[in-house]
Amino acid sequence: MDFDFDLFVIGGGSGGVRAARIAASEGGAKVALAEEHRMGGTCVIRGCVPKKLMVFASGFSRMVLDAKGYGWDIRQHGFDWSAFHPHLDRELDRLEAAYRRNAEAAGVQIIDSRAVLNDAHTVRLSDGKTVTAKHILIATGGRPFVPDFPGSDLVMTSNEIFQMEALPQSILIVGGGYIACEFACILNGLGVEVTQFYRGAQILKGFDDEVRGHLSELICESGVEMHLGCDVIEMQRQDEGIWVKATNGKNRHYDAVLYATGRKPNTAGLGLENVGVKLGHRGEIVVDEWSQTSVPSIYAVGDVTDRINLTPVAIREGHAFADTVFGGKPTKPDHHLVPGAVFTQPEYGYVGLSEEEARKDHRIEVYATAFRPMKNAFIGREDRVLFKLIVDADDRRVLGCHIVAEGAGELIQLAAVAVKMGATKEDFDRTVAVHPTMAEELVTMRKPVRSA
Ligand code: NDP
Repeated sequence: MDFDFDLFVIGGGSGGVRAARIAASEGGAKVALAEEHRMGGTCVIRGCVPKKLMVFASGFSRMVLDAKGYGWDIRQHGFDWSAFHPHLDRELDRLEAAYRRNAEAAGVQIIDSRAVLNDAHTVRLSDGKTVTAKHILIATGGRPFVPDFPGSDLVMTSNEIFQMEALPQSILIVGGGYIACEFACILNGLGVEVTQFYRGAQILKGFDDEVRGHLSELICESGVEMHLGCDVIEMQRQDEGIWVKATNGKNRHYDAVLYATGRKPNTAGLGLENVGVKLGHRGEIVVDEWSQTSVPSIYAVGDVTDRINLTPVAIREGHAFADTVFGGKPTKPDHHLVPGAVFTQPEYGYVGLSEEEARKDHRIEVYATAFRPMKNAFIGREDRVLFKLIVDADDRRVLGCHIVAEGAGELIQLAAVAVKMGATKEDFDRTVAVHPTMAEELVTMRKPVRSA
């Protein structure tokens, strides 16, 4: 049977674009990619990239304060969203154009349209036209989830936050995960009065407990008003702002409310059920280790499969798919020891197991140190950094590395290479310290603080 394309990709985000480019440029495939919104997807348009630029913008308030401690005479006149925002928009336009250009240069035909499945080899575009392909890749990502409650239509999500016309004076952020914690710090640094509600006992569920406690203290000390074990009951639009009734009885008005209560796989309305693509209970596309769905001609990568929802993982999954199906190099994406960072201020970088996870299957030693780095001590800033290694007491391998510090996202990338290579505690120990740095603590912690 003749098909219009060898590969049709639905979704122009990190995973889809990588798969399309590699299939076309290295696999010699005839490839089309449909995107209904903007090329670049969540990461480039409404996620990692604009978030990181806002982290940079936000960090200057602290830098200016610190600079004074170091003898600089700097006057702060506050942050001007109207100066920053158009610049952010232009940068996203530039990146979107680069994504499009690179895909087209690789030979990918981009179709600016929604595409849904008609059958195992056919997609239907918004204008009703149908296109056939030997293989179809679904890379439609995820979308923010907001629970249902009275007034839930008044909230924004991470999709809208980059489009705000003006910075609110006060904001309530609901959630205790990546996005909630990152935006609590970003907006606090930009001068917004931030309140954060998290329904559980401690933010960042699933991460190392010691890190969670350390970070939540620092976030509170930086000025975020955090309420744990607290949730929203209802909201109303009133003249003074959005009135929020809370489970802790602290009812008040906010200029804006941001819900960061998780994301769901973007599978609705894609026609998956009609074609027989199996979905999991969270609405995710179920795939095997080759990213193949229950329909052999249809594959899926990235957040829509709800494996590890991070951009670099989606890129690896997309690349492995293209290598496998078009490159003659069968490759499974590797989901083991994926490092990551939470871009709070300070950042948290991690690789491997938390102490609590490690205890379940290993006899462990924990090496940890928390202290005021010299940059902070000099100016009387109380912020402490945390370096932590979790070591298998039997084979001495470092099972987990956790860093809370300025630049921890950068530091963990390098520590992750060692951990991925199977470094032991003794490998860390025989590495000479780089002095004077904070990270030298990673190779100078001599005695475990506890064993289990
Ligand atoms: P997360 O899953 O990280 O956190 C969701 C938070 O919302 C949790 O604290 C959760 O509570 C809470 N929550 C869920 N449902 C409700 C509810 N009905 N009412 C109240 N609270 C609720 O999701 P995010 O939205 O922060 O981020 C989505 C994903 O995006 C992340 O998991 C990550 O994969 C990715 N991401 C990665 C970043 C990075 O790499 N730096 C940055 C931003 C996002 P509980 O813990 O109790 O379930």
